[in-house]
Amino acid sequence: MIDSHAHLDVSQYDQDCPQVIERAFKNGIKYIINIGSDLATSQGSVTLASQHEKIYATVGIHPMAEQETGCDAIKEMTKIAELAREPKIVAIGECGLELNQKSNIKNLSSAQAGDQNDKLKIKKQAELFLAQIKLAQKLKLPLVIHCRNAHNETLEILSGVKNLKAVIHCYSGSWDQARKYLDLGCYISFTGIITYARDYNRVIKNMPMERILLETDCPYLAPIPHRGERNEPAYVKHVYETVAQVRSESLEKITERVDQNAIEFFEI
Ligand SMILES: [Zn+2]
Repeated sequence: MIDSHAHLDVSQYDQDCPQVIERAFKNGIKYIINIGSDLATSQGSVTLASQHEKIYATVGIHPMAEQETGCDAIKEMTKIAELAREPKIVAIGECGLELNQKSNIKNLSSAQAGDQNDKLKIKKQAELFLAQIKLAQKLKLPLVIHCRNAHNETLEILSGVKNLKAVIHCYSGSWDQARKYLDLGCYISFTGIITYARDYNRVIKNMPMERILLETDCPYLAPIPHRGERNEPAYVKHVYETVAQVRSESLEKITERVDQNAIEFFEI
């Protein structure tokens, strides 16, 4: 099994990161993709990948990074672009869009319909997202996309991208939206949320097998039976098990196919 989206360089693992990694590989995890979400964690990802043979890294800036860390994200893109050339960098991201649930904006072109704050926020996020799309294209790397409450806006941006190779991580949309992502050639990735929320069963059942990736998004979103605890890569097996159950297929078959998808997607 492969954990295609982990954040092992964050403070939640300060005490026991080596043990967490060891536990993952002892429990049959083949590879871990460690994801950067700002400059510090992108650097952390590069370091982690350089220390462990079976850990690969991505570098990128999350749409909420500026709001959460006070960084100047566009400025930091220069350094992200440098880091992106390091060995073992397999994608750009996580990048994308995150809006409030009650945002007034329906899509980018009607952004004038939203209030001032929404307008400014989406404009800045879209600029940062586009800079990362451009970097990915330049380096011929795939994109790891974070999208919350902004699927229509994300679809609008992605539909203008040539030779798009992207995964929509921690999928939160409908089957209808998933179909649109699939038409654009995107992969879709699921977290431990699917072990307790039934909302995604339709998407999981209808998905073409060759476009599914699975992940923990650890330390967040621990699956059942670890819900509420700190998450870790070894727990990705519960996400694989849920997909096997929902699709009424054997765990072996799901594992073989999904691992193949991740290896092809990240070219590892
Ligand atoms: Zn993440």
